[in-house]
Amino acid sequence: MSTAINRHKGNFTWERTEVLKYKEDGSPFKDVTRQILFEGRPDLPCQLRYFEVSPGGHSTLERHEHVHAVMVARGSGKVLVGEEIVEAGPQDVIHVPPDTWHQFRAVNGEPFGFLCLVNCERDRPQLPNDTHLAELRRNPRIKDFIRV
Ligand code: MN
Repeated sequence: MSTAINRHKGNFTWERTEVLKYKEDGSPFKDVTRQILFEGRPDLPCQLRYFEVSPGGHSTLERHEHVHAVMVARGSGKVLVGEEIVEAGPQDVIHVPPDTWHQFRAVNGEPFGFLCLVNCERDRPQLPNDTHLAELRRNPRIKDFIRV
């Protein structure tokens, strides 16, 4: 079998890639899977992941110093990035800057799948405490959007 290609099996799964739990650290989320499509190496120290949020699900509301470069690959959904909530669909590209609250939600009755590029060496996500949540909830749109 060629190692040059990790063939798509269909339905956003790949021959040599395991479908993993999104997170195992107890962070809150709903119906999200994770697949690692490229594992970094010293001369390319980044990881390419494919996340898929099932209809009605959401990723963890979090922030961290490392950045995300995201491209939507399947379906559509809504994304909180800082003060903004954006609708995103196939091939849209989303940049999550450092230290910026973000959350992905599959709100359109379809899976919301996206590629996400990160540095291998990265800080752990921070979850919002009560003070952060109170700040976030001052914006009524964000208040209604976030899931914790
Ligand atoms: Mn993140």
